[in-house]
Amino acid sequence: MDENKKESIETKNLTIVIPCYNEEAVIRETTKQISKILQQLLDKQKIGRGSRILFVDDGSYDRTWELIKKLMDDNPFVTGIKFSRNFGHQNSLIAGLTTAVKHADMMITIDADLQDDVNVIPKMVEDYLNGIDVVYGVRNNRDTDTWFKRVSADAFYQLMAKFGVRMVPNHADYRLLSKRATQALLKYKERNLFLRGIVPLVGYPSAEVFYARKKRFAGKSKYPLRKMINFAIDGISSFSIAPIKAIMYLGFTIVFLSICLMAYTIAQRIMGNTTAGWSSLMISIWFLGGVQLISLSIIGEYVGKVFTEVKKRPRFEIEKDLYSNQFKSKP
Ligand code: UDP
Ligand code: MG
Repeated sequence: MDENKKESIETKNLTIVIPCYNEEAVIRETTKQISKILQQLLDKQKIGRGSRILFVDDGSYDRTWELIKKLMDDNPFVTGIKFSRNFGHQNSLIAGLTTAVKHADMMITIDADLQDDVNVIPKMVEDYLNGIDVVYGVRNNRDTDTWFKRVSADAFYQLMAKFGVRMVPNHADYRLLSKRATQALLKYKERNLFLRGIVPLVGYPSAEVFYARKKRFAGKSKYPLRKMINFAIDGISSFSIAPIKAIMYLGFTIVFLSICLMAYTIAQRIMGNTTAGWSSLMISIWFLGGVQLISLSIIGEYVGKVFTEVKKRPRFEIEKDLYSNQFKSKP
């Protein structure tokens, strides 16, 4: 048919963006599994010949970069960019998208460790070909997560929803973005990146694709508890000023209670019932001290955010870009 003919001429290029921080143990297998899927899509003419697997080496100090270069020699899909140092997962994603969007029509971001099911990639591409711009990979079970991670993640999503931040629950950074959605996303210039919160703000037609999250294929998690908590705090304070409002309400409530308490104390004094109020004094000092410290730290969090944003520092520094070079040499 006419349509088929047209599609074979105008196939769309897909670039899979994979951030890597010390992932020498996994990227060989990741490459194997993803290139198999890309080859199948290519054979079915769902994607074009310019499709790539773009590794972003986020300042690894193991053999990740050497491996990427080696894989490049044997596998035409593989290419990579290398940071001058470690800039973090979210910045690696932004760098990968910034680089990929110049040559690709659709981008999929995925972790290096094969926790996200690569078998839903064809489904994502199918959605894209049907006119969808953003396809969210959503986990339909969290069996591989610890009890603590599950409970804290649930609490986090509920809190974000209360604060009015639109987020897709159980969706991490596994998603497909069309060219225009990526371009829109890249207009958000904030340093404190929380992509999961920004992507829904971009708009455009979106869909969800469900998968079961697996255990890390090999290597260790690069998100220890401390990093995870910081990430959650960043997520909240980059998207909502509700905590500052909460402080205000807390302040008013405490002031109101103290006025009541004051009236009570004065009444007791007039009636001559004054007792040594040591305990109540101590309690109020400690309680108010705590409230003040929490409040200050929340405000500090926002001031800190303003501080890092106004400096407008670059989000990443690319030392080597083999991806763009490739397209330069083959016009
Ligand atoms: N990662 C990165 N830079 C960092 C930390 C992590 O590029 O500073 C990458 C890592 O290589 C992996 C992805 O981000 O591809 C997710 O990290 P990980 O799997 O360790 O996190 P978890 O799944 O345990 O939350
Ligand atoms: Mg992982």
